[in-house]
Amino acid sequence: MQLTIAGAGGMPAPRERVDAILAGREASFEGVYVHVPFCFHKCHYCDFYSFVDREDRQEPFVARAEAEVRALAPFVRAPLRTLFVGGGTPTLLRVPLLARLLGSLRASLPWDAGAEWTVEANPETVTAEVAGALAAAGVGRVSLGAQSFDPRHLKTLERWHDPESVARAVGLLRAAGIGRISVDLIFGIPGQSAEDWEHDLRAAVALGTDHLSCYGLTYEPNTAMTARMERGEFEPCDDDAEARMLERADALLGEAGFARYEVSNWARVRGGDARAEECRHNLLYWEDRDWLAVGPSASGHASGVRWKNVPRLGDWLAGEGASDAVDVERGSPDVRAGERLMMGLRLVRGMPEAEVDAALALGAGGPRRRGAIDRAVAEGRMERCGGFVRFTPRGMMTANAVLADLV
Ligand code: SF4
Repeated sequence: MQLTIAGAGGMPAPRERVDAILAGREASFEGVYVHVPFCFHKCHYCDFYSFVDREDRQEPFVARAEAEVRALAPFVRAPLRTLFVGGGTPTLLRVPLLARLLGSLRASLPWDAGAEWTVEANPETVTAEVAGALAAAGVGRVSLGAQSFDPRHLKTLERWHDPESVARAVGLLRAAGIGRISVDLIFGIPGQSAEDWEHDLRAAVALGTDHLSCYGLTYEPNTAMTARMERGEFEPCDDDAEARMLERADALLGEAGFARYEVSNWARVRGGDARAEECRHNLLYWEDRDWLAVGPSASGHASGVRWKNVPRLGDWLAGEGASDAVDVERGSPDVRAGERLMMGLRLVRGMPEAEVDAALALGAGGPRRRGAIDRAVAEGRMERCGGFVRFTPRGMMTANAVLADLV
């Protein structure tokens, strides 16, 4: 998962070099996000920076990423704990290039011995050769974009894989020795019934997956899906039906041995350990840690400063060393407080009460945010409990509405 950061709004922000942003900052990087922008086909709902692969740019992409990693290495002061290679479809890279990229990341940066390495993959791109290359490079976790196990709903989303390819991919990854597999599902697809959704959840669980991310379908500006909806091709799923689907997911996954740890994420409980299968990289986003960004449009964070690498492949390829960045946000205390609450309270365990109170004391938005949290507590949607502020199980189902008030 790549963290999506809001643009600064209004005029496009001037570009700055990432090494200039980082110079002199006291950041403690714990992870790296690498964005591979190539896809086989553009899914209709997708607003990530990705486009149909023309294979001629794969080698320049990897060479540029290697140079970027080398330029960022001096800013890493302690062994890194997580790598997440997302996109796009990283597994579209030709196998020698994928192996080269991962090998360079391994060689150029210091890694903790138990570092979590995740690569995103679309099921149809996973071959025995790809799975073997991932395992050989030290990738221990693969996040598969299944989205649905129903061909009708995959067609609505304009996903090009067939449902059987997910099981095939899981088999190949397991055979190669990949220990941790996560599956992404989408709910609220037009025409998707409650029974269809339950079928998708059961199919994902039956594959023996270790982690599930369940996202409600969103209609982003300038996507084919939104244009089709506006042309009246279908009615979007209504909010109540979506809330019921999320509720069903939580109940069914709980019965299947998963624990919800974030608004949209569930991890399989292993030997009584509810945290073993959580995505440690995504926790960096929710816990306000520092991570580096590699690749066009990749977002990074360094002690309160956020940036996005220049979001055009041609511009990014033309650079040298560290990337140019856009949307550099040096967060006023008000903005920082809103972001911190919006991200931290997504976690089921919540945020330490002292941190919440410190954030509520900051900026002009503090009283409004305090009001939103107090209201949610009074309504039983949030609670202050054991030194933490968190959503109640019931409140988690409608958390996004409260979180939107905190930004
Ligand atoms: S595969 Fe993923 S990144 Fe690529 S177009 Fe589809 S949703 Fe977007």
